[in-house]
Parts: sequence; structure tokens; C-alpha cells
Amino acid sequence: APLVRTVPRTARIRRADGGELRLSANVGSEADARAAVAAGAAGVGLVRTELAFTGRSALPDEDEQVSWLSAVLAACPDGPVVVRTVDLGGDKPVPGLRLDPVRHGFLGERGLRLCLARPALFATHLRAVLRAAAVRPIELMFPFVTEPAELAAARAALRSAAASLRADRTPHAEPTAVGIMVEIPTAALRPAPFLPDVDFVSVGSNDLVQYLTAADRTVPEVAAVYRAGEALVPELVAGLVAAAAPVGVPVAVCGDLAGDPEYAALLQAAGVAELSMAAPLLAGVRAALAD
Ligand code: PEP
Ligand code: MG
Repeated sequence: APLVRTVPRTARIRRADGGELRLSANVGSEADARAAVAAGAAGVGLVRTELAFTGRSALPDEDEQVSWLSAVLAACPDGPVVVRTVDLGGDKPVPGLRLDPVRHGFLGERGLRLCLARPALFATHLRAVLRAAAVRPIELMFPFVTEPAELAAARAALRSAAASLRADRTPHAEPTAVGIMVEIPTAALRPAPFLPDVDFVSVGSNDLVQYLTAADRTVPEVAAVYRAGEALVPELVAGLVAAAAPVGVPVAVCGDLAGDPEYAALLQAAGVAELSMAAPLLAGVRAALAD
């Protein structure tokens, strides 16, 4: 059963269809979590756990990941908090892993693909996330999912991490919900095969636009075609909502478009349940949607 959630009223906007739109924050540090509280965020739609891995020379061990994530979670606002499993590779190099820029680049083994290819790294990470979840309830989200078999494998890894913690009698908590990021066109264009196995989906517009336009999100020379492709996102999100709503799966957006006032209005019209953005953008989006 879902937990009772206390959400600041100011952060909720009534949707045209009567549903509530949650305005949440993206968080990558304790300071971000405090900024989310100060900005009146209704929750956290994305905790970027890879920030526990970057900015250091060695990989964090399980205890180090637990202490990083516990501190972030303790500082988060009330309301749902979505922790994303570690999203490495692509534009997110990791000193501790020495990832090849092509094999682990934007079209390579990154995100969930990398975690599934390194079961020990993933198991340690999942144990750390479940241990940190003892601080407060979390929802869990897998990034960069291309096909349903990956989701099934990730769920199996999650079950064995929980089983190993039970066997160790280590304090932990299982997520109250499990979802995926929709940031690869396969999932955005044909979401149906994923829906029976998720409690929610969250659209990563940054990567989705990159793969729709074949324009690298970090290369300024192709920024104009990348931006032109953003116009496709509200339409795809509306299609996603049309597929997901009948089976009771809420659709969130946690990519940068969620924090753009004009796109936020279009995404609201498309029927999203949550927009999650950098905390400083919340006030502008709230004002735009209140109009
Ligand atoms: C996205 O791709 O839109 C997203 C939210 O994830 P990231 O920017 O971390 O890839
Ligand atoms: Mg992404």
C-alpha cells in the first residue's frame, strides 16, 4: 500500500483533468536537498546517485555509498523521493572505473547496461541504496532502459540485494515503488511491454531528445537541431500517458524540459503527474502553471 504522504500544498497544481501535478526537485547533493526544501518542492523526482561516484579517485565502497545517500535522503523534503540507480558512462565519466569513451559512450554500455554488465558493482550499489532507504521511504528508478529484459534483470538484482541484506540481518528497507526512466526512443515509442512491471515511469528528456535527433547533448555545434527536437517531447509524453494511465501508471518528467515554463505547460496538458527540476526553477514553473 502507498505510504501516507505529506506534501506542501503550495507545490501542488490542480490539473485540467482533476488530477494533481506534483512539482518536485532533482537532487545530487545535501545542498540540493536543502534547496528543494527551501523552494517548497513536493518531493524529489530524481536523486542522482552517480554523484557519489564522481569527484573522487576510487570507487566508493558500500558503506561510503550508504553514508553519502543517507545524508542526502535525510535532507530531502517530505513527499515521494525517487532514487535513481547509478547512471554511469555517457557524459558521466567515473575516475574509479576508467571507462572507454566509445564503448561506454552515449551509444555504448552506459546506465543500466553498465550495471547489468558488472553484477558485483550493481549488487554493492543496490545494497547501499536499500540500506540508506532505512532513513526514509524511497521509490527506486532504473535509468537508460532499452528493453523489458533489462528491467527484469534489474528487478532480479534488486531482489537478490534485498535477500542478501535479510540474510546478513542488516537494517534496510525495500522501495515503496519501482519504475524506469523513459529516455530511449524504444521505450518512449512503445511503452506497453514495460508497463505491467513498473509502478511509475519518468521521462528523461535530455537523453530522449539526444537519441531522437541523433544530436549529442554536449556538442554546441548541434545544439540547434537538438533544441528543434525538443518539440517532439510533449507529443511523445501524451502518447505515454495514453498508454500508462489506463493501467494506473503515473508519468513524470525529470529532464530539463520539466523546468522550462513553456514546456512545463505543454507537459501538464499532456497529463503528467510530476515535473521534477532543479530547485531554482520551481518558482518560475509554478508561476507559469498558475496562470
Ligand atoms: C535525462 O536524461 O533527461 C535525465 C534526467 O538524466 P541525465 O540528465 O542525468 O542523463
Ligand atoms: Mg539521462
